[in-house]
Amino acid sequence: NLYNMVQDLKGNIRVYCRIRPIFNVEAKNVIDHIGDDGSLVVVDPLKPQKDKRKIFQFNHVFGPTATQYDVFRETRPLVRSVMDGYNVCIFAYGQTGSGKTHTMCGPAGGLANELGINYLAVNDLFQLSDERKDIVEYRIQVQMIRSCASDDSLVLPDATMCPVKSTTDVINLMKLGEGNRAVGSTAINNRSSRSHSVLTVHVHGEDVSGSILRSCLHLVDLAGSERVDKSEVTGDGLKEAQHINKSLACLGDVIAALAQKNSHIPYRNSKLTLLLQNALGGNAKTLMFAHVNPEGDSFGETMSTLKFAQRVS
Ligand code: ADP
Ligand code: MG
Repeated sequence: NLYNMVQDLKGNIRVYCRIRPIFNVEAKNVIDHIGDDGSLVVVDPLKPQKDKRKIFQFNHVFGPTATQYDVFRETRPLVRSVMDGYNVCIFAYGQTGSGKTHTMCGPAGGLANELGINYLAVNDLFQLSDERKDIVEYRIQVQMIRSCASDDSLVLPDATMCPVKSTTDVINLMKLGEGNRAVGSTAINNRSSRSHSVLTVHVHGEDVSGSILRSCLHLVDLAGSERVDKSEVTGDGLKEAQHINKSLACLGDVIAALAQKNSHIPYRNSKLTLLLQNALGGNAKTLMFAHVNPEGDSFGETMSTLKFAQRVS
């Protein structure tokens, strides 16, 4: 159909940038300009000269006033293609505090109208399943996986496949996952910034002629990408930080190799890319959200995030 043709023209890898609002009123804004065409101009608050400005180009840039639905609107066609048999991976990348979890889940204890992509996507899949119920019989199951970047192992506490009938089922399932972790919110934040959380939606469809379709949507809230100062962290903390950086670098290598259509794709270099292998490459579609905290103090991390994102696009 026309939609898929348009998507294919764009290629299978897209990168969106999302800039969160400034919370510290005294902070300088590193964002100089956001273009409607996906361009972004960034300025170093310490070197604000015009010729020092850095220009980046993405498929789309969402500014600080973009709503959860603005973001979902641009993501929806990709999500819907899962119901046509495509495998899709959506990643949230960025330093801790840049808005990854906000995009994927929504704000902690947030209102219903602030729910993130995880919920809006699953909700949309149910809606599509209902619209097509006379033609295709769909079965939807979800799975939650937390990958501890600390030793590059995969922890599968919630990895059992759960058949779900409605978005409410999924929300309850995710709440259960949160509730199971009987730790304070700071601890949750610390832990989630050191591990990747993957919500996988498995779709099975059978049409009236009996042909079968199988696909999956991986929604990945990645570990924080911040580089850790070696002088401040030692021992286990340092090891953990190095594992995270390695695992994110491996993901970058895989997506960059796919974008360049290399013959060798280094899936085997990390557990995360191995886990997602069948949904990265081939006909699969990938979307990376590069999250930016626009406050001056984060300029270094912002540049590193934007360079990472530029390399994989
Ligand atoms: P991360 O998951 O990258 O560590 P969070 O998603 O937890 O970051 O965001 C940090 C804080 O900023 C949270 O309180 C979150 O609700 C808020 N926040 C992030 N992005 C936005 C946004 N686009 N609009 C409003 N608040 C946001
Ligand atoms: Mg988070």
